[in-house]
Formats: sequence, C-alpha cells, structure tokens
Amino acid sequence: MRSTFLPFCRPSISEEDIAAIGDVLRSGWITTGPRVTELEQMIADRTGAKEAIAATSGTALMHLTLQAMGIGPGDEVIGPSMTWVSTPNMVEMRGARNVFVDVDRNTLLASTDAIEAAITPRTRLVIPVHYAGAPVDLDAIRVVCAKRGVPILEDAAHAIGTQYKGREIGGGDPAIFSLHPIKNITSGEGGVLTTNDTNLANRVRRLRFHGLAVDANDRRQQGRSPQAEVQEPGYKQNMADMNAVLAVRQMPRLDSFIARRDAIAQLYRSRLAEVDGILPMTDPTWSHRHARHLFVVRVDEKICGMDRNAFMDGLKARNIGTGIHFLASHGQKWYRENRPEWMGKLPNTEWNSARICTIPCFPDMTDKDAHDVIDAIKETLAGARTTVSGGIR
Ligand SMILES: *Cc1c(COP(=O)(O)O)cnc(C)c1O
Repeated sequence: MRSTFLPFCRPSISEEDIAAIGDVLRSGWITTGPRVTELEQMIADRTGAKEAIAATSGTALMHLTLQAMGIGPGDEVIGPSMTWVSTPNMVEMRGARNVFVDVDRNTLLASTDAIEAAITPRTRLVIPVHYAGAPVDLDAIRVVCAKRGVPILEDAAHAIGTQYKGREIGGGDPAIFSLHPIKNITSGEGGVLTTNDTNLANRVRRLRFHGLAVDANDRRQQGRSPQAEVQEPGYKQNMADMNAVLAVRQMPRLDSFIARRDAIAQLYRSRLAEVDGILPMTDPTWSHRHARHLFVVRVDEKICGMDRNAFMDGLKARNIGTGIHFLASHGQKWYRENRPEWMGKLPNTEWNSARICTIPCFPDMTDKDAHDVIDAIKETLAGARTTVSGGIR
C-alpha cells in the first residue's frame, strides 16, 4: 500500500507560478488590472472568441450571463441534471425553471434528441455540459436549437482545451470556463466567459462590477474612470490580478497538462480492462479532442460485491482519494423537496449518480501513482468478493 495519500486532483503549481504571484503582490496593484486583461486576451486567442470576460468563478459568470440574457420568471432553461449543481442553482436564482434532460449512459453527455424533446414555447436557453472534458454534439444541438430560435450557453467548466470537430470550445456560442483549483487550468478561484456577442460581453462586464458603465478604455487602463456611473444595479464579482496571474502562467502549459492527463487515462483504460465490474466512461463518437478533465468509473455493485460508497471507503483506506462528479442535481435535498417531478424521470442520470466515482487524474501524477490506483482498486474488490462469497455459503 502507498505510504502517502494520493488526492483525486492536485493543481500543478511551479515555483515560477508562486514567484509570479509574489510579483503581483509587490507591484502595488493586486485587484483587477493588467494580469486580468492578459488572461482574458489569452483565452480569447486560444478559443478564437471575440470577447473573454473573467470573474470570480464560473458560477458567478453563470449568474451574470443568465441575467444579461434576460432569463427570469416564467422561463425554462434546458440542461442535464448530471452536472455540478451550481448551474441549475443559478437558473433557480433567476426565478426560472430547470428542465432537466437525461444523458447518455456511457458518455454522460446530453443527447440532442433529449434536448429537442424538452423544448417548449417557454424555453429560453439550452445549457449543454461538456462533461469531463468531452464535447457534446454541438452541430446537432445547434441545428435543433436554431430551428426553434433557442440560444445556447455552453457549460465549458471542464472543457478548456477541448476541441469539437477541430474547433476549440469557446469560439462559437457563449461558453463559461471554470478556473477552480480542480479544473484543467486554475486561478485559485475564477471563471471566464467567451462570446462573439459584444453586447452580451459588455452587459456581463457591467454586471460584474456594480453595474458601472464600461468603455473600451477600461480594458486598457488600471481600474475604471472615477466618474463612471451606475447604469443598472450590479454585483461585485471581478477577478483580482493576484488570481489571474496564476492562470496566465498556466495557459502556456495547457496542452502539456492535457497530454499528461491523456496518458494517465490510457494507462487506466488498459489496466481496467483486467478488472470486472469497474466500468470506465466511453468517449463520444464524433471527432473531438478530449481535455481528460476527470477520469470517471462506474461501480457495478452486483459484480463488485460492494456499492460505490464502500468502494470509495476501500480506496481511501488504501491512501487513494476519489470524488463524485456528480450526484444528480434533481436528487439533491432542495430539488427533491421543491422540484419532485423529476425523480424517476432521468434513468441514465440516476443510474450513474449512484455508481460514478472519479479516480485520481492530474498532470503531476506519475505512472507509479496510476498503477497504485489500479492496484488499490483490485485489492479493494478482492476484499469484497471474498467477504461476499464467504458470507453467502
Ligand atoms: C466547476 C463547475 C462549475 C462551476 O465553476 P466554479 O468556477 O467552481 O464556480 C460549473 N459547472 C460544472 C460542470 C463544473 O464542474
């Protein structure tokens, strides 16, 4: 057994990253300024989007963008329940309703057919999720949405560096990336919206900072004109330079991070082929580049002789960290009690919610770490299989 604990994720932070944060602290300008502008420019360049807007988190940007799009009471927003609940929460915060769609059992991506079937005259927005760093079938979803005049906002929290049919995620419809520490690139906490819609971008910029007027100059100078006035009440969700500089430092390493994640995923896949009852997710059939944000397996209780939670405990006892991405949103307490109509309606989501488990996958892991994970899985299952057969007869 390993002598040290292996978390399911650890951000890759170099000494130069730490020194760069020190430089910001010493510069005398630590809040929104040149480093935020630099990060926004880098992400616009990488994705090909006209506009990139950084804020304190992906969740904050979801809230700002929904408000900027005019989503409110009486509106329906379509998206998967199998996502981080922050997105459904922001829909509720706007007073709108979530219309949950089921996902494919093995890719955990929302299917175009499910989205099409969920569209009603009240539908104002579709929010697909590029789950674990694999893209949804954007071309097909765009056709269905365009036919009904419904816009798309991509939850790209897992998808910085993901490509769909050779195109970078974030260059088309508005997309929100997260820079939370477990994501592929981090700013400590943070998020970036990319869009080609300058009006949407400016409204989000304004809402991000008290609703103060935004002009082109704001992106070139430190701070804002002291004479700027409130155009509408806004929030206080601007990213600080202290945070932005970390992501600025990491962006040039994004491709090497993904390559390393991919190598770990391939190692896992080949070794898990020997393990009954542990089912890795599959990749979508359309052409894509996977960002390998999460490596997710499903624990088949019948074959394994233990459920997902016991499996996680078994790995933890062997110094291997795991996570759950995600428990179905519609199964969480508030949603169960206040939106009970969804229970039992999303079979693939519920099936996965009870069985999924994220095992460690991050760029600084060694091959030895990855082998330790598989060895710990085998030992955990061997223990259960012995107990089960011994207990029965
Ligand atoms: C992380 C995450 C978010 C929210 O991002 P934050 O920056 O943590 O607010 C949204 N959606 C999904 C699918 C996520 O994993």
